[in-house]
Amino acid sequence: MPELPEVETVRRGLEPAMVGRVIARADIRRPNLRWAFPENMAARLTGKRVERLRRRSKYILCDLDSGETLLIHLGMSGRMTIAPLDGVAGDILGDFHHLHPAPAKHDHVVLDMDDGTRITFNDARRFGAMDLLDTKTAENHKLLASIGPEPLGNHFDGDYLAARLKSKNTPIKTALLDQNIVAGLGNIYVCETLWRTGIAPMRKAGTLSKKRVESLVPAIRDVLSEAIAAGGSSLQDHRQTNGELGYFQHSFAVYGREGEPCQNDGCGHSIKRIVQSGRSSFYCPKCQS
Ligand SMILES: [Zn+2]
Repeated sequence: MPELPEVETVRRGLEPAMVGRVIARADIRRPNLRWAFPENMAARLTGKRVERLRRRSKYILCDLDSGETLLIHLGMSGRMTIAPLDGVAGDILGDFHHLHPAPAKHDHVVLDMDDGTRITFNDARRFGAMDLLDTKTAENHKLLASIGPEPLGNHFDGDYLAARLKSKNTPIKTALLDQNIVAGLGNIYVCETLWRTGIAPMRKAGTLSKKRVESLVPAIRDVLSEAIAAGGSSLQDHRQTNGELGYFQHSFAVYGREGEPCQNDGCGHSIKRIVQSGRSSFYCPKCQS
């Protein structure tokens, strides 16, 4: 399931292919994903210039010159691919789409940009979503309105986090996964953050000292920034591979490493896995308390 760094990598990958370009053709190949697509979606996209690609939590917001914003959520299995028309000279009457292979199974939305580049949204499990919003009020959309601050933004700091966690009787792991407290943090990056800060995942959030809570903020930023950087390097070869964005190899210190030795120097303990709220937590029983 894509987490914030993967979504940010997709956004950065789409940016050069879409921003400043006009959507010449929109092929909406089914009526819905997780929810029904908006009415007249193809017509509302066709001929519109993409002015900006933003990200809010795990949503990509594509601002169009029509005053509408295309919201894209990758869900569990959504994938975006970019297929440039390399080596094709000239504009074939503006109709490039015949030059691309026919859409594959699960290619639900296909956007052909005015330079012939094809952007495809493929989603086998169909938990993804797309919607068209008024750009001016896009962040008030029901999916976005109650989401907490961006972990890489200025509103997320030690004072804010301490205030939100102070009265929480839930485990810190659960609190950090709460999208109303902080946007876009998922299971993998919460496990990594807690290991780096030496905080046990089952520790009650409200019992942490202010100092320990404050230590979470730079750790969260570092973990996410490192993953975004790894995603950025994966973008450099997307043209050589299949054009798929956002899924990249990245190594984790504890996530998925049950039974392996803790990577802290001189620790010697092995990583343990427990299940919290139905999800695996990986941690070191010696380094995290
Ligand atoms: Zn350890």
